[in-house]
Amino acid sequence: MNGYVRKVWRWWAWWAGGALLAAALLAQWRLGELRDAFELDARIAHRLLSQRLAQHDAVLVTLTLYPAPADAPGADATLRQLYPQLLQVLRQPADGPWSAAEWAAAEARSRQTALAQVLPVPGSPGRYGLLRAGPQTAVALLIDLQATVPWAEWPLPPDTSPVAVTVLRDDQAWVVQPGRTSPGGWRFEVRKPLASESQAFGLRLQRQVSWAELPWLAILAATAGWAGLLALWRQWSSQREQKARAEELLRLGQVSRLNALGELAAGLAHELNQPLTAIVANTQAASRLLDEEGDAADANAARQAMAQAVSQAHRAAEVVARLRRTVARPEASDRVPLDLAQAVQRTLHLLAPELAQAEVQVQQDLPTLQVQAEPVALEQVIHNLLMNAVQALVQVPAPERRLEIKLHADGPWAVLRLIDSGPGFSEDTRRRLFEPFFTTKPEGMGLGLSLCETLLTRLDGRIEASHHTPRGAVFTIYLPLP
Ligand code: ADP
Repeated sequence: MNGYVRKVWRWWAWWAGGALLAAALLAQWRLGELRDAFELDARIAHRLLSQRLAQHDAVLVTLTLYPAPADAPGADATLRQLYPQLLQVLRQPADGPWSAAEWAAAEARSRQTALAQVLPVPGSPGRYGLLRAGPQTAVALLIDLQATVPWAEWPLPPDTSPVAVTVLRDDQAWVVQPGRTSPGGWRFEVRKPLASESQAFGLRLQRQVSWAELPWLAILAATAGWAGLLALWRQWSSQREQKARAEELLRLGQVSRLNALGELAAGLAHELNQPLTAIVANTQAASRLLDEEGDAADANAARQAMAQAVSQAHRAAEVVARLRRTVARPEASDRVPLDLAQAVQRTLHLLAPELAQAEVQVQQDLPTLQVQAEPVALEQVIHNLLMNAVQALVQVPAPERRLEIKLHADGPWAVLRLIDSGPGFSEDTRRRLFEPFFTTKPEGMGLGLSLCETLLTRLDGRIEASHHTPRGAVFTIYLPLP
């Protein structure tokens, strides 16, 4: 059924929406955590490398201020033991300039700026020279960048860390740590200049976060938890719906019984009225006969008895009339404007379990149409017709059980048509359908359709029954449009 499929889709949509939201929130939380850790590592790496570069300056200042005596070559070896990144200490030849032109130029620049100058070492990536001119002499250090990293304090394990660390100088990039790269996912990056005036290097840290690093277990748990919650909610709401449906059916049943009682009274009134009228007529005739032919004394007693019979008969007729009046028209104020399509939908919803159990395929064409009606009476009419249709349809094979419900406006009328593919009825039966107590069912009361007719007449409408080709019944309700 359409409604059922729509409902199932709605639940799936709720689940998928909630699961996606939970997954997005958990992923964002995890990414935030990873980013925080990455940025902390980046700050530590930046501080450690900046400290090391500052040491190079300090060493150079010391060496230029206190040049090592020529007879103490061991001093440089000690220095390199302390700072393993210093591959070589080079001093300006005592009696002249550096042999390489760019070293001499770097010395001149250093003298000018009072800063150490960086010299590239062609063919040796990750190595550079640092030259500083002092008051008496100039000293250069050959530095290995890899060895500059204080691995003991380094926050990123070089073999397993996913973070790639690179030192940048102009167009050169020295990889300090390659990092474990993984395809797809997200990319974090931090670029920061290292804090050294002489060695104007940049530090770049990159980290690739792969999909596998998302908290899948937590996402799975959240999704399953959400599904559980929805299942509980669904159970609760379907129980509530069932309860509401049962209450509504009970109410409709009570009203139905009351109305059936009224119908019974109306039937009785119809049946009793004729004999009572006959009693009155006969008694009056007998009375006249006695007047004309009987002897005087008997005629008197008979006259009295007949007069009493007449008055009893009148009383009985009055009782019947009173009974009839109790099945009166509803007041006009009981009628409210309502959507006929919605009234049909509501009743269909009430009978959904019966329709589903009988495997009836319902086809609806119900545009909105306003009428003035008494809601309960109208629902009862539709309920009776639907129940009759279900009872008729179960007599044919399941795949052939079809019920069409159509609504349209025709002149001053709202026309509601119920067409079933059941066995239908003979022409003789059709003429008697709306008679009270007419039924072809072993357990039937035969009041349903006559009640429908009465209720619709009260609402200034009417009902008609006809045959459907090739087989089946058509019931058409007419209600006045406002
Ligand atoms: P009951 O249902 O108690 O028999 P109703 O007044 O509702 O009383 O129906 C009277 C009769 O009309 C039913 O016994 C049945 O023979 C016939 N009838 C009503 N609806 C249908 C239908 N959809 N198809 C065939 N026959 C129907």
